[in-house]
Amino acid sequence: MNRNKNLQQAKTDREWDVVIIGGGATGLGIAVDAASRGFSTLLLERVDFAKGTSSRSTKLVHGGVRYLAQGDIALVREALRERGRLSKNAPHLFKSETFVIPGEKWWTAYYYTFGLWLYDRLSGDLSIGHTRYLNKSQANQSLKGVKPEKLNNGVCYYDGQFDDARLAVNLAQTAIEQGASLVNYCEVVGLDKNTTSKICGVQARDVLSGESFAVRTKCVINATGVFTNEINRMDNPDEMDGIVPSQGIHIVIDREFLPNESALMVPKTSDGRVLFAVPWHDKLVVGTTDTLVKNAEYEPRPLEQEVEFILQTAKDYFVKAPTRADVRSVFVGLRPLAAPKGENKSTKEVSRSHKIHISSSGLVDIIGGKWTTYRQMAEDALDAAMKANILPKKQCVTTDLKIHGHHPADMNSHLGFYGSDRTYIEQLAASDSKLGSRIHPDYPFLYAEALWAVREEMAQTLEDVLARRIRLLFLDARAASAVAEDVANYIAPELNKNADWVEQQVSEFRQLCKQYHF
Ligand SMILES: Cc1cc2nc3c(=O)[nH]c(=O)nc-3n(C[C@H](O)[C@H](O)[C@H](O)COP(=O)(O)OP(=O)(O)OC[C@H]3O[C@@H](n4cnc5c(N)ncnc54)[C@H](O)[C@@H]3O)c2cc1C
Repeated sequence: MNRNKNLQQAKTDREWDVVIIGGGATGLGIAVDAASRGFSTLLLERVDFAKGTSSRSTKLVHGGVRYLAQGDIALVREALRERGRLSKNAPHLFKSETFVIPGEKWWTAYYYTFGLWLYDRLSGDLSIGHTRYLNKSQANQSLKGVKPEKLNNGVCYYDGQFDDARLAVNLAQTAIEQGASLVNYCEVVGLDKNTTSKICGVQARDVLSGESFAVRTKCVINATGVFTNEINRMDNPDEMDGIVPSQGIHIVIDREFLPNESALMVPKTSDGRVLFAVPWHDKLVVGTTDTLVKNAEYEPRPLEQEVEFILQTAKDYFVKAPTRADVRSVFVGLRPLAAPKGENKSTKEVSRSHKIHISSSGLVDIIGGKWTTYRQMAEDALDAAMKANILPKKQCVTTDLKIHGHHPADMNSHLGFYGSDRTYIEQLAASDSKLGSRIHPDYPFLYAEALWAVREEMAQTLEDVLARRIRLLFLDARAASAVAEDVANYIAPELNKNADWVEQQVSEFRQLCKQYHF
């Protein structure tokens, strides 16, 4: 993953088959699909891979128990099928997680056991474990951190869990291995049209150097998530907003608040939402919320009522209630939802299935969806472009395509997430005492990983390293701020950067860290 090499390829005077705007789950999945079908493929990402929504999910690879309750069977079946595929194509990143739904009333567990039995059945051959009814003692044993009065019974079911930003990097690597070119910090600032008003290229700008250049292509796919409206207006300045952002926040706290292997799933909180508390990288991620907001932005702020809602729900359930002081990090993501049609319609009612739209000039938009279904979304987007005769017909080959790092799961070490790359990182760590030492005494991350991130994973900034290649910002914002200067000094020579760069990076990153803690 060499940015300079990929940038040079982007600038060559050639006509690409496919240009993808946006390097989140959607765009990266499309890059893998297009390149593996044999299309010449270029992906341009304005900031870093997964800088947007795709690093801020609940980290679940799931069918969506909530969508089942809403009767969206097709969406659940599709997502469960994709969950099973991801578990096979990227086993190093996929963790089969036990979820427990606490039952307060005598009938609660029976009710959910039936629904989750259906959930199992919908996953067919790709089931990852069977739903079980839990009696009072089994429920209390599974969720030791939850108040006993909430656990008169329970239901245990299985879903997948992953590291979203790491899967994004692995998808970028897979796309490059399949022949695609991908450039981060390179934005699309305009669309080019031919004499028949069909899109034939994009205007791109290298954000790091400021240099602009034109790219010619047969097909442009807009995979910019909550920024979709921006690209649509480049196509047609009068275009109405097709997307509304809906904000979801998570808090990250220590495992001691829920000291079990199982995750907690509350299917109906005080205001009808679902709430998860899921172990992740030896911390606990608790969320989420669903609040319509006006603007698409990269670093949305948590709203007071969202924080209050999560802490209050945690207080209702946990024996030891977390307070603001216990929050290690709070991260906020924006769902790209198709704008709800009709007054008073809330975002909870908008279907989470993806939608593909092709404009009269040939711009292919793909909106909505979930991380879990990124592969199916990519297949559908390219099939739609072929159906519209924008691209010639070629068969999708991603159902069994192994994702970079493919390796049997090893969740005993945090290095297990690197899959087959783990050996190289261990070799780096063994080659030098500094590389083998921890970045922060309380966390297992090594300097070798920081070096690997800039050398092999296209990390360009301190934030890329500490937020998305290593997840320290998301796990503990104060710890991330504390190590900022050391890590910036360490990666600067590898990136050919001087002391001024280090100073600026540290200052900007520490400013950002303040937004991730109270
Ligand atoms: C709170 C929350 C929790 C979620 N939890 C889950 C979950 O547990 N499981 C699950 O399956 N799904 C989950 N999702 C959904 C999932 O995260 C999203 O569907 C997915 O990440 C969207 O990816 P995307 O690529 O469409 O958007 P993004 O990740 O936002 O990517 C769009 C990219 O486009 C780039 N871009 C924008 N404009 C330009 C331009 N002009 N030029 C170049 N690049 C540009 C941006 O920089 C950005 O990186 C969750 C979502 C939220 C908000």
